[in-house]
Amino acid sequence: MSELDFLPAFEPGWVWLAGAGPGDPALLTLGVHDALRQADVVVHDALVDGRVLRFARTGALLEFAGKRGGRPSCRQADITARLIDLARQGKRVLRLKGGDPFMFGRGGEEAQALSRAGIPFRVLPGVTAGIGGLAYGGIPATHRDFNSAVTFLTGHDAGGDVPDGLDWPAIARGSPVIVIYMGLGKIGRIADRLIAAGRAPGEAVAVVADASLPSQRVVETTLAGAAEAVAAAGISAPALIVVGEVVKLRAELDWMNRFVAPPTDAVSRRRA
Ligand code: SAH
Repeated sequence: MSELDFLPAFEPGWVWLAGAGPGDPALLTLGVHDALRQADVVVHDALVDGRVLRFARTGALLEFAGKRGGRPSCRQADITARLIDLARQGKRVLRLKGGDPFMFGRGGEEAQALSRAGIPFRVLPGVTAGIGGLAYGGIPATHRDFNSAVTFLTGHDAGGDVPDGLDWPAIARGSPVIVIYMGLGKIGRIADRLIAAGRAPGEAVAVVADASLPSQRVVETTLAGAAEAVAAAGISAPALIVVGEVVKLRAELDWMNRFVAPPTDAVSRRRA
């Protein structure tokens, strides 16, 4: 028996709802890697890196179903209908999303639709950008000296606005570290809300774009200066915004830029 015999078999007619992590293929779980080898169809969104899709079995159908990438948007209802349809055709359907499928990824809604349609499914969690992606920027989501709580929030409500349903004063008061997904385009308005709710205008902020990818960029700024800093740096999505003292740890913990990686031939010798 192989040491991977704990991995489940992908049965025809099932949908596996999986997270591919923030970008670096090294962050795929063993389960998701194996699912890519077994799936008949991979329905992926725009945030899934091309290097990840190369693990798909030869002959597997790769279908794009996402909201970005310069292609027309797919309606959520069409995506779930497609998943159900493929499963009913007896395919092994891998629904692959960036990060973790249940973290601001509408994975919960897709799972509900599958459940209601009587389609058997399995969830394969992934590394969410707000933790693993930040780590690639040298920022720990928690640190004992600074925060014993962290809040993840989305900069978009269902209509695309800065969410008014959020209790900004409570978050500002109660959460020393705030990690914001999908907030780049509204960073100025988000910062204004946090300042109005009592956070210091000079508080540390980092914006981490393309986290864990070769194109990763990090901008360190302050709440009051965030909108201008992002515009000046020409940062584009996907990006995370982190507010809080943990951002300052980057000075010591930015491992991606602090240490020079060994030459590739040294790595291959180690593997040999
Ligand atoms: N399910 C995903 C989040 C989907 S929402 C997860 O768990 O990570 C999309 C948002 O995630 C983006 O707008 C951005 O804020 C964040 N994001 C995803 N991948 C990212 C990356 N590689 N770098 C920076 N932010 C990323």
